[in-house]
Amino acid sequence: METQAVMIMGSMTDPKTRFVGALVLLGAPGAGKGTQSKIVARQYGIPQISTGDLLRDNVARGTELGKVAKSVLENGGLVSDPLVEEMLEQRIRTGGDTKRGFILDGFPRTLDQAEWLDRFLQGWTAEVAPGQASTPVVINVAVGYNQLLRRLTGRRSCPTCGRIYNVFSQPPRVADICDIDGSMLVTRRDDCEEVISERLKAYERQTLPLTDYYRSRGTLHEINGDQDLDVVTGTVLKIVENGDRV
Ligand code: AMP
Repeated sequence: METQAVMIMGSMTDPKTRFVGALVLLGAPGAGKGTQSKIVARQYGIPQISTGDLLRDNVARGTELGKVAKSVLENGGLVSDPLVEEMLEQRIRTGGDTKRGFILDGFPRTLDQAEWLDRFLQGWTAEVAPGQASTPVVINVAVGYNQLLRRLTGRRSCPTCGRIYNVFSQPPRVADICDIDGSMLVTRRDDCEEVISERLKAYERQTLPLTDYYRSRGTLHEINGDQDLDVVTGTVLKIVENGDRV
């Protein structure tokens, strides 16, 4: 993968200094958005912003937002649009690491959020990179239902470094232990079967129409996420490198 990525980058402007803009990764829970986002984030030196991670962090810290979000997360539903939009805007504007762009993982999830994002990006791009296109690069990673279930029930992550494993397809060298820092791996509370089925239903109901929204605007790239991880990553990196806003 490293070689492939370097070859793609070889002839282009330095990925670590150029403006990348907003990248949106769409896909069902378990489609691999988190894994792909982390790889792109490393290549380009821009942050991966996962609204799920931000919400879980708020729940863990017991903030006002966390108190509202806690039960929604436990049931697999969606936190209300204004709350998530405000949380995201704050993260982008105050993070200090977003000036060249960022990758959104898990946002937008509703049409309201997609429309909000378009408006927000117009203002934000004009401020940080006047003259650059404000439309996001949108990539949909499509994965079949059975494969999604397998990925979600097998998913484990390291609470220390954030690395994601899968007991079926990408197990750690020693069961339940992170290869990198030796921490005990954890299973997300919402990766149990009842909550998974609610999350997949919420996805079908509210998030699937997003692909139509971006398709009709001609800004959607579709990738078959059932392919090997490296193949998917190669395609994602090519799209980002071309800055292809279709
Ligand atoms: P994720 O880590 O992306 O699977 O998100 C975990 C949970 O956080 C989801 O099941 C939702 O309850 C909530 N969540 C994450 N992102 C959003 C969003 N953009 N809008 C509403 N709820 C969200």
